[in-house]
Amino acid sequence: MPKTIGIPRTLAYYTFFPLWKVFLEELGLNVVLSRQTNKNILEMGVRDAVTDACLPIKIYHGHVADLKDRVDYLFVPRMISADGRSTFCPKFLGLPDMVRFSATDLPPLLDLEYRMRRGRFSNFLFFQTLGEQLGYPLRQVSRGYLQARRVFQAYREWQYAGLPPEEAMREAESSGRPRLPAREVKQHAGLRIAVVGYPYVVYDPFINANLLQILKDAGCEVWTVERVADSRLRTMSRQLKEDLYWYYSNRVVWAGLHYLSQLDFLDGLIHVTAFACGPDAMVDKLLELESRDRGQVPFLKITIDEHSGDAGLVTRLEAFLDMLKARQRPGLTPRV
Ligand code: SF4
Repeated sequence: MPKTIGIPRTLAYYTFFPLWKVFLEELGLNVVLSRQTNKNILEMGVRDAVTDACLPIKIYHGHVADLKDRVDYLFVPRMISADGRSTFCPKFLGLPDMVRFSATDLPPLLDLEYRMRRGRFSNFLFFQTLGEQLGYPLRQVSRGYLQARRVFQAYREWQYAGLPPEEAMREAESSGRPRLPAREVKQHAGLRIAVVGYPYVVYDPFINANLLQILKDAGCEVWTVERVADSRLRTMSRQLKEDLYWYYSNRVVWAGLHYLSQLDFLDGLIHVTAFACGPDAMVDKLLELESRDRGQVPFLKITIDEHSGDAGLVTRLEAFLDMLKARQRPGLTPRV
């Protein structure tokens, strides 16, 4: 029987899952995901995590609890850096320790460091170490890595083309890279809203009251951080004197600046943030000030926590959309 590796369906899952999944499956292992976030997962996370943790970390603990009795290993990498330029927030850095000391009866953790330097081989070294820990020869590891890279590249291109992560994962695995150029976008008659925030907050419908679907049902064209090419994010980074320290925070700010640089296109900017997120205190203020200074772009901050009621969020969203409709103007599609 192949060993089963459990991967919590949150946090870095939204960015890196295809890379991890394809690699592990190419080694012949069985990848098991936790269930979609639900009330039970939230309650288990609130029970297990330290009380002052942000909501995404509590949710992560809930996903660990959901998986721990049905897998041989839990994949909980220590996410340090993905670009050799910034680090993940301190909660990501301490994730394996937090999980180990908060939860009980855990299977062995695969908790190796994900620390990308800018060298060509640093990504491969992570997978080489993972393969060694699991007892696989270098040749099999190399083959699995190359296949995982191919699927991951296709996944990113599907995201640029506008698919949300889970659909992009399915397409990347079943059809490879998108046939149309990723930058091809259609004209759209509805409101054009940029929704920026960490992927585990923006794409998890349980914790954000299904915000993206509400906007789509209201006829809006929604643009997220993942629809901006990495090269464009790097260009936008030059507009600030300094980077923030944290990987996801930088991406949110740079994507926000990208959308704010296209005033003919953008109708409004929404920042989705988690209560008790330290880095977001800075990200949110920056985005608010930039929205004001770059043409008075309407800005809405949505804060979520475990006590947020869906009704309150929906009411605020509806009021925001009503205000945007009153000032809507014809525009252009953005560069992505
Ligand atoms: S960046 Fe913020 S929301 Fe994300 S894990 Fe860190 S503290 Fe929590």
